[in-house]
Amino acid sequence: MAQKTSRPAPHELERMPPEERQKHLEERMREIIAYAYERAPAVKERLDEAGVKPSDIRTIKDLEKIPLLRKDDLIALQKANPPFGGYLAVPMDSLERIYQSLGPIYDPQRKRGFGFGAGLGPDFGKGQIVMNTWSYHITPAGLGVDEALRRLGFTVVPTGTGNTELQVKIMHDLKVHGFVGTPSFLKTIIDKAEEMGYDFKKDFNLKWAMVGGEMGGEPLRKLFQEKYGILCLGGDSYATADVGTIATGCEKQSGMHITADAIVEIVDPATGKQLSPGEVGEVVVTPFDEVYPLIRFGTGDLSCLIDEPCGCGRTTPRLPKIMGRSGEAVRVRGMFVHPRQTDEVISRFPEVSRYQLVVTRPQHRDEMTLKVELADESVDKDKLRGALDKDFRDVCKVRFDRVEFVPKGTIAEGAKRISDERVY
Ligand SMILES: [Zn+2]
Repeated sequence: MAQKTSRPAPHELERMPPEERQKHLEERMREIIAYAYERAPAVKERLDEAGVKPSDIRTIKDLEKIPLLRKDDLIALQKANPPFGGYLAVPMDSLERIYQSLGPIYDPQRKRGFGFGAGLGPDFGKGQIVMNTWSYHITPAGLGVDEALRRLGFTVVPTGTGNTELQVKIMHDLKVHGFVGTPSFLKTIIDKAEEMGYDFKKDFNLKWAMVGGEMGGEPLRKLFQEKYGILCLGGDSYATADVGTIATGCEKQSGMHITADAIVEIVDPATGKQLSPGEVGEVVVTPFDEVYPLIRFGTGDLSCLIDEPCGCGRTTPRLPKIMGRSGEAVRVRGMFVHPRQTDEVISRFPEVSRYQLVVTRPQHRDEMTLKVELADESVDKDKLRGALDKDFRDVCKVRFDRVEFVPKGTIAEGAKRISDERVY
């Protein structure tokens, strides 16, 4: 694909007025679809099957005409037509690396790699040693991050995971400045160092960590920052092996900005129709990827778009976080409610010992009843009901119809947190 000289750089795209950016993105989207249709047989086949021509796709909204490509579809396509299921748009011998990720699924190395370091200021880079604990084998995480770090000027120590004692020694001996990996593995290293008799804050030089890749890392981030003075950078970064980086956190730590190197849609997983900002749906990605142009790849992850301006100056929409997998969510009055969201609400109320959200459908209207067991029966129930209502609405963007206080033991241990009992 010929690079047009007028094409703005990613950092310019991230900061321009949204309408202007949309024009650029739609232009690149039209190019990648025309290119993929020409070069990747599977893309041609899927579009032909849906009766869609590349010229029918002019705007992001037009993407709705193309069926979602699910991970399961890709696995089946790769199985029928190995190794890449007809999605490789370049000659096989031009690939530098091939990865395998869960599925199993094969991923060719893409040119655009992993976006990284969006939240790093000028104080980070050359002269600093970083330990990269992502695995360097089979999956793209380790090597992708390694390349991005080296591009930023860091000196990288590739350690992968495991062998914690040795990791402690490396971190100590080399006066490692930054850590990249999961929050739980950093915690394991710190614990081991303390067990070995070190005072982590005093004896180590670790100043920052870019941690992600697992759910529920927030309490650990807090611990790293508050107890050990380790700056946790950039919030999360959200990438998958199939489409690369989808969104990265910024220095304001207020969600993850979606990349300007792909079209990211939030859609109703059942219909593939695009949803409005604030509505929770499946993250669907069309990367501008000339090697492996997956079109409308459904990640199966749930999130929503925030399109309010961010204090960092970027104008790209943000994903607050990943709210779970689309399979576990229940759609109620047009909004998805996920157990992770209801857990978040309930975690704010220590007086609630157990809960279950029951969805029913009397008179063709979805109703939600929040069943609650109390740890302490003496609480002011009206006050609690009001507070639950408010927080539920804030987090889930939809209201429940009633709270039912039930006796202890009514909700079985291990019961589903959201029980869909609707009969249609
Ligand atoms: Zn920002």
